[in-house]
Amino acid sequence: MTESSAAALPRTDAGPQAPSPALGVLRRVFGYDAFRGEQEPIIEHVIAGGDAVVLMPTGAGKSLCFQIPALVRRGTGVVVSPLIALMQDQADALRALGVRAGFLNSTLDPDERRVVEAQLLAGELDLLYLAPERLRSEQTLRLLAQTEIALFAIDEAHCVSQWGHDFRPDYLTLSVLGERWPGVPRIALTATATAATHEEITHRLGLEQAKHFVASFDRPNITYRIVPKAEGKKQLLGFIREEHPGDAGIVYCLSRAGTEKTAEFLTTNGVEAVPYHAGLDAGMRAAHQSRFLREDGLVVVATIAFGMGIDKPDVRFVAHLDLPKSVEGYYQETGRAGRDGLPSTAWMAYGLADVVQQRKLVQSGEGDEAFRRRAAAHLDAMLALCETAGCRRTRLLRYFGQELAAERCGNCDTCLIPPETWDGTVAAQKALSTVVRLQRERGQKFGAGQITDILLGRKTAKVEQFAHDELSVFGVGADLTESEWRAALRQLLALGVLAVEGEYGTLVLTEASGPVLRGEREILLRKDPTPPKRSRTATAKSAAKAPVDLPPEAQPLFDALRAWRTGQAREQGIAPYMVFHDATLREFAVRRPATLGELGSISGVGEKKLATYGEGLLEVISSADSA
Ligand code: ADP
Ligand code: ZN
Repeated sequence: MTESSAAALPRTDAGPQAPSPALGVLRRVFGYDAFRGEQEPIIEHVIAGGDAVVLMPTGAGKSLCFQIPALVRRGTGVVVSPLIALMQDQADALRALGVRAGFLNSTLDPDERRVVEAQLLAGELDLLYLAPERLRSEQTLRLLAQTEIALFAIDEAHCVSQWGHDFRPDYLTLSVLGERWPGVPRIALTATATAATHEEITHRLGLEQAKHFVASFDRPNITYRIVPKAEGKKQLLGFIREEHPGDAGIVYCLSRAGTEKTAEFLTTNGVEAVPYHAGLDAGMRAAHQSRFLREDGLVVVATIAFGMGIDKPDVRFVAHLDLPKSVEGYYQETGRAGRDGLPSTAWMAYGLADVVQQRKLVQSGEGDEAFRRRAAAHLDAMLALCETAGCRRTRLLRYFGQELAAERCGNCDTCLIPPETWDGTVAAQKALSTVVRLQRERGQKFGAGQITDILLGRKTAKVEQFAHDELSVFGVGADLTESEWRAALRQLLALGVLAVEGEYGTLVLTEASGPVLRGEREILLRKDPTPPKRSRTATAKSAAKAPVDLPPEAQPLFDALRAWRTGQAREQGIAPYMVFHDATLREFAVRRPATLGELGSISGVGEKKLATYGEGLLEVISSADSA
């Protein structure tokens, strides 16, 4: 850091009460009062020159853990990140705070690159974002060798994990940093929390000597809900209309076609949505991402390609229309909701077809046997989360080796409305017997649809074609409804008491089937909740709900502030959240500051923003007062 930096510290005779340099930067540059969680010890450790491995959930505030040390230490902080498409936004957001930030990646033309390189060499950058592949080139390494480096931050560090879900081969070369710059502190950060990933990061990046900081992965402001899928798209629409009208959200689908159909369906039904997947051309992807960041309340329907590193703070919901492949992936994706700490929802619709499809994918998937076993284990954990009658959050955290203070969180669907369970042993035996008879007596295997029809005793064309009405099990399950059978089969598959085989997803027995058939193992099933029927008026009422929890008298000012913010953002070509977060606008609307001093005391208002927006804001607030 040099003297001209916005973050430069006043060299006064600080008394014993003076804040530490780190706290000073937090308040002056970022406008926040206090550190969160483990931020302070991490930041102090890196400022003192120590290496760190930081595991923190999304939204916990990892960025400050390297940004502040970069501002306090001499030289430029170099941030390695795989998220090339976001570097521009990250640099913009920092510049809006008065921090001198730049980036080097393949999106720059040679002239732009030279400008950044010159700034770096002149010591005019506090932070430089760098794509990992740059570090393969001797030219980049030489460039860095000519400047003073404050620290290396390795963001999204789980990308170094070969078996993880985001492996980037270029991350394997990052061990070079420790070798070439032994005196420069390195801080590796990720929101992926399993012990295996943690170990791989430490080992592959040569961070054995580093201090490790593992935060609680709980995200208390996110409500987790997993609902049985009937008509996924319609359920999604209902969910958005009832609970998140006008809110920004991300919807995840497995297939590219699925994202496009869903986006179209939502838009046709009045919820503005755009698709995002690897098959769209780069220009359109960039345009959709940019709209998502810049507009209030747009929904992006995406394959997993979307969202990593997007630090839009006001994503109010993340929805899954298809089953994620692992709990790790699910937690990363849902974690993109509610970074600002305001209430948000992680919603998923999940059904029998999903289990069948995913089990099939795992079996026919690429990779060797060990890889497939791993994929199967990931899926089992995901299914167990879906089918649990216990608290979802407790399960999620246990998956990451952490415990919640209480047995139940009170903010997930199973805590809010505990599901009923029933003794499904006899039902399971009926279903398994049907599979057995088909195979033993006929040498046949069928999928869940036909098994259900046989159990229900339905004389469909296919039943008659194969004379399945002559099986002794025909109609033995007439005591349950079709949806109950689908739910039961889904759970038996999730439990591994039944398995899926082959291209057509036929059902077959497993090693775990025998004890159930012989009556040695009881099967407890959860009853799918019946979705509450909402009246039209109830829907209309909740549609008027404010995007953030606001006292009604503050609503008009909040709306005026949002409109003001949109105008400011447009003028500067940046995203609204880079002007101020919703949470900060909310504070303005509730507290109605009347002076610059009062404004500056609100969380999220640093020196630069106070200077840029202060007068304008006071005007908006006072004219709303007199209105
Ligand atoms: P992560 O990278 O861990 O997902 P971010 O660094 O994007 O999280 O931080 C999440 C949000 O929390 C950001 O909007 C950030 O400005 C805010 N934030 C971080 N630290 C603090 C703090 N100490 N006080 C208030 N807000 C904070
Ligand atoms: Zn719970």
